[in-house]
Amino acid sequence: ATPLSITVAAGKAAGNGILIRSAEALETAHKVNTVVLDKTGTITNGTPTLTDVLPADGFDADELLALIAAAERDSEHPLATAIVAAAEDRGLDTLRSSTFESITGQGVRALVDGRTVLVGNARLLTAAGIDASILTADLEALAADGKTPMLAAIDGRPAGVVGVADTIKDGSIAAIADLAARGIDVVMMTGDNRATAAAIARQVGIARVVAEVMPEHKAREVRRLQGEGRVVGMVGDGINDAPALAQADVGSAIGTGTDVAIEASDITLISGNLGGLVTAIDLSRATMRNIR
Ligand code: ADP
Ligand code: MG
Repeated sequence: ATPLSITVAAGKAAGNGILIRSAEALETAHKVNTVVLDKTGTITNGTPTLTDVLPADGFDADELLALIAAAERDSEHPLATAIVAAAEDRGLDTLRSSTFESITGQGVRALVDGRTVLVGNARLLTAAGIDASILTADLEALAADGKTPMLAAIDGRPAGVVGVADTIKDGSIAAIADLAARGIDVVMMTGDNRATAAAIARQVGIARVVAEVMPEHKAREVRRLQGEGRVVGMVGDGINDAPALAQADVGSAIGTGTDVAIEASDITLISGNLGGLVTAIDLSRATMRNIR
């Protein structure tokens, strides 16, 4: 492409709230045939709210929420924020933890009121040697609804399941349909539960889901798709997404996302709407068509 045509296209993109960092990104975007989308904060708004508190036998819902909120207080994860906000709303924000440990991609462990509180996914409880099978039915019911379930254990005993629900961003469904209409395969990638991810994917029209991905493995998944000969565009918002955004042929960050994700990307979608990616691909296709 001529430097002038690239500059013109980048200017048009900027007018649509799409910041393109390099000429190379504009030259590559027209070749993208697979787009990988992070779920939380990219397809969804990323501000989940607590919807369900399901204590196991022998535990009280308010007591459970108070304990897990104390455990989650020092976590910056959106799931933690949802739990703490719900406890505050219900006047259950009364306890504080004395020790706190965050286990990336799994959850948290804290000491609250002399009790050991674990909150996170099944992997977290299994790794602690806790049999959480009595919680499985509740976990599966929440996930089938597209909610993210979190398991709680107190002093080594399974204590209950809580669920949070996120909302789908305006524009996600339309953008995913637009990508498919351009012959692009769309893949959802998330650290979230497989069943939750599948339910959200169904709602937005995505057929291919890679779920329960550990943060450090997101880039590997992108590499695997490239190994199939695909030219991969990736969109993400989180610190966890940065290596995958850098690995992708064209990485796009959500403008409201973390600085680390923005720095790892070629394109920033200022408004956070996935429609910006479709516009960028269209601009690249038009630009590259004109010069051949
Ligand atoms: P995502 O790709 O959706 O941003 P993460 O890798 O951050 O996911 O987290 C993966 C999973 O680990 C979450 O769906 C949740 O089950 C569990 N998890 C992570 N952090 C927390 C936390 N602070 N509290 C409870 N569960 C957590
Ligand atoms: Mg995210």
